[in-house]
Amino acid sequence: MKKDIHPKFYDKSETTCACGAKYTIGSTKEAIAVEICAVCHPFYTGNDKVLDTAGRVEKFKARKEAGTKKKSAK
Ligand SMILES: [Zn+2]
Repeated sequence: MKKDIHPKFYDKSETTCACGAKYTIGSTKEAIAVEICAVCHPFYTGNDKVLDTAGRVEKFKARKEAGTKKKSAK
């Protein structure tokens, strides 16, 4: 390796997530804070995504109904 061009590498960098999960990874930073990780992301938990989708469908139905009423009133 060339001298003086490489950043310091931490073999056991502490990564903490907003949900409380902790990881030990290799990084050039001593400590990393993330907002979302594989433990709390809806893609991996699955729960939040389903709830969100259900809410969107209901909102769409309500909008569609309101639109239909407007048209029939004309
Ligand atoms: Zn997390």
